[in-house]
Amino acid sequence: MSENESKYAYKKKSAWEIFTKDQIKKAFDFSEEYKTFLNDCKTEREAVQKIKEISKKGKKKITINREKEAAIMVPGKKPISEGLRIVISHIDSPRLDLKQIPLYEDSESNLGLFETHYYGGIKKFQWVVIPLALHGVVVKKDGGKVTFTLGEKESDPVFSVPDLLPHLSREVQGKKKIDDAIKGESLDIVVGSRPVKGDFKEKIRTAILDKLHKDYGIIEEDFISAELEVVPAFKAKDIGFDKSLIGAYGQDDKACAFTSLKAILDITNPEHTALSLFVDKEEIGSEGSATAQVTTFLRSVIKELDPKADVDQVMLKSKVISADVNAAVTPNYTEVFELKNASSLGNGIVMSKYTGHGGKYSANDASAEYVAEIRTMLNKEKIPWQTGELGKVDKGGGGTVAKYFSRLGMEVIDLGPAVLSMHSPYEVTSKVDIYSSYLAYVAFLKS
Ligand code: MN
Ligand code: MN
Repeated sequence: MSENESKYAYKKKSAWEIFTKDQIKKAFDFSEEYKTFLNDCKTEREAVQKIKEISKKGKKKITINREKEAAIMVPGKKPISEGLRIVISHIDSPRLDLKQIPLYEDSESNLGLFETHYYGGIKKFQWVVIPLALHGVVVKKDGGKVTFTLGEKESDPVFSVPDLLPHLSREVQGKKKIDDAIKGESLDIVVGSRPVKGDFKEKIRTAILDKLHKDYGIIEEDFISAELEVVPAFKAKDIGFDKSLIGAYGQDDKACAFTSLKAILDITNPEHTALSLFVDKEEIGSEGSATAQVTTFLRSVIKELDPKADVDQVMLKSKVISADVNAAVTPNYTEVFELKNASSLGNGIVMSKYTGHGGKYSANDASAEYVAEIRTMLNKEKIPWQTGELGKVDKGGGGTVAKYFSRLGMEVIDLGPAVLSMHSPYEVTSKVDIYSSYLAYVAFLKS
């Protein structure tokens, strides 16, 4: 019996102790596949593509919305009218997007650069002087698409945001607040420096446009109809002498996307019809046609499962896990956490009854009954878990897609692994937490 069930005291316990040796080995093996997924899916479009490939290989039914949202369904023993079991995760991550007219030449520095506009909650100083890759699509005026993934192969070039040397940064950066030291407008990436020969006004800019036309058939106006995302070029790696942790870009929320994908692939004939949903634009408030706020897609998926279904009734009876990451207690900054109610790496999947900020504003606050149900399920399956609240009261806060689904009358709770250095170019998770998340989603989806 786990200490979580102890009669007198509640104490968080390490997943490393709860798991058997065999399970820890499985967690390490599972992480290898997870790292590949992270490397292959740095953007929402790439994630949908990969999810489609994997689900078809696993012979599961998938529906896709606009290349940015996907649903995988497994019919259950009970009729749809008894509700669904849904795990929803998001597949977008904080990054730098290119502006619509990105290219310019800076004549003083002799550099060609792309203007960017950051996406999601980033700490700007973390995005300078690191190798960056360019991913996305350019739609040409004839509708033809050029897909970019430049900066991932060993032979590819990368891009980078320049920063000032310390010798000269005391006034313009050093004396400022950390948030003001690097401006959003200075997050431009270097894309070239070699001028064309001849009588041109902007020789570097001209050379870059020539190259883009030659290699990709792109003209400058094509950037206006593009979605080009600048993401860290590094690969997922193990961290630590013991290789217990994973460092990678985009683990918020690919950690949950991958584990809920693997979970739905591994279940057959569940009690209730199971659904893994993958949505876009969570990091900027879930606005848009392929997001958790817009339920047209979900409604159509329910109709697809059963054309005669009373969709509102189905939703009222459905139970949902909002699969998103939580903040891991961060060494040297423990003062922002209320440690009894904070999640740490290695203690298993994190259950958050509520999110939000201030007086629980904008929170989904799961019912005590539903929390009990989830807690009982996790304990019964001996899955390591912990609770977690995003920081001390009034220290900040955050939200997930949970509230958009609870609005539809569903029971919703947040459940996902803890992440260290969240929203940074190099987020860190624990292998045992990733595996706990997978096990938890399996247990839920088959119920
Ligand atoms: Mn997230
Ligand atoms: Mn996030």
